[in-house]
Amino acid sequence: MSYQRTLVVLKPDTVRRGLAGRIIARLEDAGLDILKMAVHSPASRELISRHYRSTEAWLTGVGNKTIKSYQNVGKSVAELIRDFGSEEPAEIGKVVKERLIRFMTGGPLIAMVIGGNQAIKKVRSLAGYTIPAEAGPGTIRGDFSGDSPDLATAEDRSVENLIHASGNTEEADYEIGLWFGDAG
Ligand code: ADP
Repeated sequence: MSYQRTLVVLKPDTVRRGLAGRIIARLEDAGLDILKMAVHSPASRELISRHYRSTEAWLTGVGNKTIKSYQNVGKSVAELIRDFGSEEPAEIGKVVKERLIRFMTGGPLIAMVIGGNQAIKKVRSLAGYTIPAEAGPGTIRGDFSGDSPDLATAEDRSVENLIHASGNTEEADYEIGLWFGDAG
């Protein structure tokens, strides 16, 4: 069975910038189905902290992406430590998570269950890489944002990258259950 369901969240920057319709159109154009939709105005802190699970793997992954993006723009380790209080990926991940919670609870967002053939991978490739400045043209993040961790950190905020999409089937099951209940 290649029909899959995945959780998509149109983050507060999408709603604030009036981009929800255009982003949803991209999903529809790609042949994906909207199975459920809910507006949270805003989402609770509890929901967002359960959504971004602070597992070692998640914290380290987010930290490593941040480290790499700092290297890509020529920032030093000293600047990384100044901005995150540490050069350890998991410690950096904890700082990012706090900013992320503030961002994700700071305004209305739209959660959706999206279905389709190989939907998990499909939506991730439509979304593009986490850091919009490095995301390819033609992707949602690449076309609608140019944000990066160094810019975001200078303004004490999260990277604003418009869309969340589940990364794999385990994440999709967990996230759909969390946002829409077990019958989601
Ligand atoms: P993805 O959303 O592509 O699966 P991650 O799970 O690694 O990416 O990161 C979760 C979210 O944390 C990102 O979508 C982004 O909004 C935010 N984020 C990641 N790294 C940073 C950072 N260094 N500074 C601020 N926010 C970040």
